[in-house]
Amino acid sequence: MARVSVDSLRKTYDRGSIVAVDDLNLDIEDGEFITVVGPSGCGKTTTLRMLAGLEEPSGGTITIGDEDVTDVHAKNRDVAMVFQNYALYPHKTVFENMEFGLRMSTDFDESERERRVVEAAEMMGIADLLEDKPDELSGGQKQRVALGRAIVREPDLFLFDEPLSNLDASLRTEMRAEIQRIQDELGITAVYVTHDQEEAMTMGDRMVILNHGILQQTGPPTDVYENPVNRFVGGFVGSPSMNFVDVDVERTGDGIRLLGPGDRFQFDLSTAYVDRHAGELSADRYTLGIRPENVSVADGTADNTVRTTVEVVEPVGSDNYLHVDIAEDFIVRVESTITPETGEQVTLTFSESDLHLFDRDRGVDIF
Ligand code: ATP
Repeated sequence: MARVSVDSLRKTYDRGSIVAVDDLNLDIEDGEFITVVGPSGCGKTTTLRMLAGLEEPSGGTITIGDEDVTDVHAKNRDVAMVFQNYALYPHKTVFENMEFGLRMSTDFDESERERRVVEAAEMMGIADLLEDKPDELSGGQKQRVALGRAIVREPDLFLFDEPLSNLDASLRTEMRAEIQRIQDELGITAVYVTHDQEEAMTMGDRMVILNHGILQQTGPPTDVYENPVNRFVGGFVGSPSMNFVDVDVERTGDGIRLLGPGDRFQFDLSTAYVDRHAGELSADRYTLGIRPENVSVADGTADNTVRTTVEVVEPVGSDNYLHVDIAEDFIVRVESTITPETGEQVTLTFSESDLHLFDRDRGVDIF
């Protein structure tokens, strides 16, 4: 088990013209499960490969446990990595695949190797597959073998690079739970890279959000979901995405009215809200963010409402997504029993406590 510390970590390619990871600082607690998420090319894999020792940093340090491992070769780090494509040897049996890493070291005699492989295979539910070759296995079974091979090493740190991307939806759900169970049982510190924000939300004790190689935010998934520090995080975390409306501020005596483009959106902030945020509400314009699940179709009693036109009704099982004419891609998530016609007018309402106001120029959350 180990604490991991990443200080000012940087990786550039092509003589510095590509900055893959930019001044990353991150402390990971002993036994913590961290998910790393972000759009394609944001530096997730590069970060993971530097932790594994497969990529040399251009700057900064990595400490695992008490040891500065920045210049330590991959094979001398107590780290096990699980890849998306399983990376199994096709001509070796499951047993041989799982045993292979242990054979590379003189620390394990035959009986110790066998003990570890059998124990890991039992843990992964693949004890009856030990004599099979990889091409006799399903995708889910192959990934269990890859996990088992990581476990036998009893590493200080588990690194996962999108391990479930090749599996179908139901297997992914099953394997997510399995990986969490194993990590929990073994208490090994884990860093799990995924492009799937739902995976990042459900699996991690803490999530790390990267964009353009820069750390945007880190925190428990619920905190990040509720308090995104900027527009990028607000839009990236949550599905369907947070809605955004560019609003201008109209000051009316004590009050503040937020006006969207083309008179399609108007919302009065309460005086209590304005008083509470008096110091921060100084700009003349913001980008307002509101999540689809925080908007509802108003009953007759709501007083601060927005009237709009339904453009598309998208059924997604238990819910309907109403695409409405407030702003581009503005979605309202409602129960499937609410089924307005396309072109119908609806009255929407939401609580001001669910609003996010972002600095329109810098995209940074105001509060
Ligand atoms: P994905 O989700 O698509 O796997 P990622 O977040 O893992 O993306 P990285 O693979 O870490 O992103 O890449 C980060 C940036 O570094 C990208 O711009 C990528 O093109 C660049 N990059 C990665 N490896 C190299 C390399 N060997 N040579 C040049 N540029 C590279």
